[in-house]
Formats: sequence, C-alpha cells, structure tokens
Amino acid sequence: MKSVPHYVNGAAVASPGVSPIFNPATGEVIARVPAPDESFVDHVVVTAQRAFETWREASLSQRTNILFSFRQLLVEHTDELARTVTTEHGKTLADARGEIARGLENVEYACGLIEQLKGQFSQQVATGVDVHSTREPVGVVAAITPFNFPVMVPLWMSANALASGNAVVLKPSERDPSAAVLLAELLSEAGLPPGVFNVLHGGADTVGALLSHPGVDAVSFVGSTPVARHVHDVASAHHKRVQALGGAKNHMVVLADADLDVAADAAVNAGYGSAGERCMAISVVVAVGDVAEPLVAKIAERLDRLTVGPGDDPTSDFGPLITAEHLERVRGYVTGASDQGANVVRDGTTLTRERGFFVGPSLLDHVRPGTRAYDDEIFGPVLSVARVASFDEALTLINANPYGNGVAIFTRDGNAARVFARAVHVGMIGVNVPIPVPISAYSFGGWKSSLFGHTHIYGPEGFAFYTRAKVVTTRWPEPADSQIDLGFPTTR
Ligand code: NAD
Repeated sequence: MKSVPHYVNGAAVASPGVSPIFNPATGEVIARVPAPDESFVDHVVVTAQRAFETWREASLSQRTNILFSFRQLLVEHTDELARTVTTEHGKTLADARGEIARGLENVEYACGLIEQLKGQFSQQVATGVDVHSTREPVGVVAAITPFNFPVMVPLWMSANALASGNAVVLKPSERDPSAAVLLAELLSEAGLPPGVFNVLHGGADTVGALLSHPGVDAVSFVGSTPVARHVHDVASAHHKRVQALGGAKNHMVVLADADLDVAADAAVNAGYGSAGERCMAISVVVAVGDVAEPLVAKIAERLDRLTVGPGDDPTSDFGPLITAEHLERVRGYVTGASDQGANVVRDGTTLTRERGFFVGPSLLDHVRPGTRAYDDEIFGPVLSVARVASFDEALTLINANPYGNGVAIFTRDGNAARVFARAVHVGMIGVNVPIPVPISAYSFGGWKSSLFGHTHIYGPEGFAFYTRAKVVTTRWPEPADSQIDLGFPTTR
C-alpha cells in the first residue's frame, strides 16, 4: 500500500504509512499517511530554521521570480492537482479546478511582494533626524490545514509567508495529504531552495509537537472551531503569533423583494456545492415574511434535478463526503430533524449506493435555534430554512449565532443591503453573492467563533501576519552639534 511521503529539505522522505486515506467515491483505502514522532518533527523544524537563514537574505526579485515560475507550474499542473484532490477528497473535478484557481490568485498577489514589503520613511522628524521602517520575516511558519481545500488553503498561507521571506512547515490534513506534496515538488521545480517549504504529515500529535516547538515562530491554522480554539490557546501559551480560523454557520437572508429564482439558484449552488463541505457554504436560508413558501418550493424542485456521483464523472453535481463516519454524522442531522420540530422537505438519506460515502441533498424547513440542525456546523449537503417575520428578526437571529464567517443577503433594495452589511456581526458579507470569499487583494476572516487571533488570512493582513516591523531612527550629527544633555529626547 502506497505511503504518502513527507517532503523535507527539497526531497520526498518515505516513512511507513499509518492513517488510512480513502477514495470517498469507492470507500477503498488507497494509501496511508505517516504519523511522525517528535524527533522527526524536530528535524523538520530545524531544517526549516536553517533554510530560513539564507531565504530571508534572498533578494525581493529572486523571490518574485520563483513565485512567478511557481504560478506558471500551477497552471500547467492544474489537471494533475485537480485529479489528486478529487481522488482523495471526492469533490468534482470542476470544483477542484475552482479551488486551484482561487489558490492561484494568492500566488499572483504574492508576486507583488515588492510593493507589499515596502517600508515607510519620514524625513526630518526632528532637526537632522530621519525615521524609516521595514517589514521583516518572522521565521518558521507552521501552516496547519483542513481537508476541505487541500490546495487553496495551503496557498492562502504559503504564498505570502514565502514571499515575506519565511520558511514554511505545512501540516496538511491527514485525510487528503497528497496535493500538499505536489505543491512542494512544484515549488522546488520553481527554484525555491531546499528546506524553505516542507510538508510534514500527521494528525493531532504532530500539531501538538509543532505548537510547543521553540523553533516555530508563527502558526496559521484553518479547521474546525474546537481545534482552532485549542490551537490558538496552546500556540499563544508558547508565545507564538497565531491566527486560527474555525468553522461556520452561514446564513442567507432572502427579503420579500428578492428575485426568488435567483435566490433559489444561489441557495442550491452555495448550500450543496462540494457536498456542503465548505466553510463558506450556506447552511441556513433565512426566509423573511411571505417568501418562505415559494422559496422552499423552488429550492426543492431544483434539488430533484441534482446528480450525486463520483467527482470524476462530469455529470455529477456533487460527490461523496470525506469519510464513512462523517457520512453517518450528517445522516443523523436529517433523520433526527423532525423530532426537533423541522419539516423534512427532501431527505437525502434515502439515496443508497453500493460503495462510497454518498448522501443526497436534504432540505429542512421550520428549523429553529436550539435544535441540532441549527446549532451545529453540519458540513454536509443539508440546507435548513428558518422562517422569520421581518428584516430585524433576521438580523437578530444572525447576530445571536456564535459563528460569524460569511453571510449573504438577497434583495433589490440597496439601502436594506447597506444597513444589513453595517449591522451584521460577520466578517464576510455578500450582497446577492452567496459565497463572498474575498479576492486575494483583500483578506479572509470571520468574526466570533470563526476566527481566533486578530489578523485575517492572506491579502494585506497576511503580509502583516508573516512580517514584523522594525523602525530605525537615524541622525548624522556634526561634532559641533553634539553636547551633554540627559533630558529625554524630544522632537521639538
Ligand atoms: P479539523 O479541525 O478536524 O482539522 C484541521 C487540522 O487540524 C488538520 O490538519 C488536522 O490534522 C488537525 N487536527 C485535528 N484535530 C486536532 C487536534 N485535536 N489537535 C490539533 N490538531 C488537530 O478540520 P477538518 O475536518 O479537516 O476541516 C473542516 C473544518 O474546517 C470545518 O469546521 C470548516 O468550517 C473549517 N474550515 C474553515 C475555514 C475558514 O476559513 N474559516 C476554511 C476551511 C475549513
């Protein structure tokens, strides 16, 4: 059985496989991933520390050229990457290509590093005194990523971290780790020196060893909320800078004046795409006033036209879930929904397949806070509808939710959208856009239990997170200007 290698110091490192990797479309174990011990984690971090010492000295144009080459290689290898993602994750090939394209944007943004790393200069802040600032890399970045975007999320972190002159240890999800190794090979081919980008496999134990390792300077984490909170707390206790992005419960408000066909299409695309395994998936449609009946009917009718099947079949709209355990968990939300007062409009658990972790699309109506389907992040193809009487009630419902990743409003009333965007306690807002993932020139981040730490990821805040400021105050005095004066220096 194939074991996915680590990638350390510019080369693949074979290691016995432990945790199984499934092809979710067949349910078969197709490879195994190693679980390194602490001494191997230490070896990888020390390797990255050494590489950092030379990489931080690489000129900005050298770094830019490498990132440009990497960008080109990502384009050329898109099909190979997409096939790898589909085989281990299960999402459709079109969806895998989409995530690669969104990851590529981050590399393109990082190619502008010469602009991002510019410091500031103030002349004559006091007589004969100038001040300038620089942004310097922090050192070794541990990048810990979830299963649902095995290419895009590693690129969210790595592009800016490398551009800023840091070394990276990527700890990808143990469920679909092969794409990370391909990224490492492409970075080497692009000319990145050995040891600057490493892939270290494993699960919670590997993460624990990274969080407490004194050679790790910064931690970028994306995953579920309980683990994000834990990673934030442990990394902070070890005096590392940390950004830990967590889970979500994204609402989509539909006002009375919205075009209900547009809203129904958007709800289906954003609720069921990638089998709902997206942190920006819509999971609750908030139907305001009279729109509920016609909107639920329109969504249900669209669900009857969806095809669930293997990700490499071009007729599939969405593929299987990641594991058999997750499939059972998702089914449980649907089978238990009516006992908690919901109306099961479409029941995806009736879909049966001889193999693979498939479940059909489910639609739950009359879902309320305090029930499992509303309170938990389901992370599956299950859309809930919550009915409210007014715009204010919709806003109150969303602001009471502990998550604050993404939200959308569907309306043709510009002022209602503006008031909503200003009043809602959520980090990313779409106006008639159901999945408002910011482009790479803006940063990505939720509020409340969707983000621990205060910088958002990628974009300008990514460069800020991966660098620290240095400020230099300079004076070139003439000997005649020098004197004894023990007072605190002022600028006057
Ligand atoms: P997860 O939290 O189970 O795993 C994420 C990473 O943490 C993996 O690398 C895993 O090996 C590691 N890990 C797991 N348990 C750990 C533990 N106890 N201690 C230390 N490390 C541990 O998440 P997942 O199931 O891979 O991904 C899905 C989750 O990620 C969803 O909740 C989704 O909303 C979230 N997500 C959030 C964003 C965002 O930008 N906010 C983006 C993508 C995914």
